[in-house]
Amino acid sequence: MATNEQLPDVVMPHCPHRNLLRGQKALVTGATSGIGKNIAIYLAQEGADVAINYIGSEDAANEMVAAIKASGGHAIAVQADVSREDQVQAMFQQTIETFGTIDILVNNAGLQQDAPFDQMTLAQWQKVIDVNLTGQFLCAREAIREFKRRGVVPAVSNAAGKIISISSVHEVIPWAGHVNYAASKGGVMLMNKSIAQEVAPYRIRVNSVCPGAIRTPINRLAWKTAEAYDKLMELIPYKRIGEPEDIARVVAWLASDDADYITGVSLFVDGGMTLYPGFAEGG
Ligand code: NAP
Repeated sequence: MATNEQLPDVVMPHCPHRNLLRGQKALVTGATSGIGKNIAIYLAQEGADVAINYIGSEDAANEMVAAIKASGGHAIAVQADVSREDQVQAMFQQTIETFGTIDILVNNAGLQQDAPFDQMTLAQWQKVIDVNLTGQFLCAREAIREFKRRGVVPAVSNAAGKIISISSVHEVIPWAGHVNYAASKGGVMLMNKSIAQEVAPYRIRVNSVCPGAIRTPINRLAWKTAEAYDKLMELIPYKRIGEPEDIARVVAWLASDDADYITGVSLFVDGGMTLYPGFAEGG
């Protein structure tokens, strides 16, 4: 069997786009970087009109809009801090005015502010909860208001709407030094399952995608050097880091009618990180 050292870097398999989301309108939060950027582009390639939310990176958002338009798609850039109720409501209003409605919300925006627990400030705790948990609440609430108002349009989708949260393996794996982050993602888990239970009768689906270690700016320290990468591999049975495309294609599928009977799940996309790799030998 090949060892870790002998395994090649992954070449993402070519998956031809199937227009899975043709005619649908999507809003992706935190869409100018890392996972969110890849999701926004992938949804557009699957035929969705995409609203690209950004907080500070207006140029990056405008570049993405131009690239999507150049490939024949539709996109707009919408600025909002997802932790601010007034800004989230204005973002949904702008998106609905432009696209007519919203079918898919990808709650992706998130951040870390790490500290040993006894040195964590209230501001660090509050910031991470505000963006990662309250931000997802505010966006989900606006999306569900629109989904309920509009209901199912059979020509577009079997569902009245779909919410996909980008959560984390840390909705179940405790994380020393990152207590605020793990608490926010644990909160996302039960928030989403509870929303899913409440809105399923309206044909609204709510699911989480839980990435393991994905190569993005948020965790650069964990993969930037060869030493860090090797250390990271001790936590990943599949022996490669995840790429943003690994997440984007799962999100597109979950948002499509191919996944019509799936709601309230946390789907781990983590190369086996949640399989307790420390128990692979002995235990
Ligand atoms: P990233 O590259 O740092 O992207 C995070 C995005 O969120 C950025 O575009 C950022 O905008 C935006 N953002 C931050 N605060 C915001 C706010 N208040 N309002 C609106 N947007 C805001 O990190 P990423 O890895 O792609 O992370 C995306 C999601 O995946 C996060 O929820 C993260 O917790 C989750 N996740 C990532 C990994 C991983 O290994 N990468 C693993 C598990 C879960 P600016 O750049 O302008 O600040």
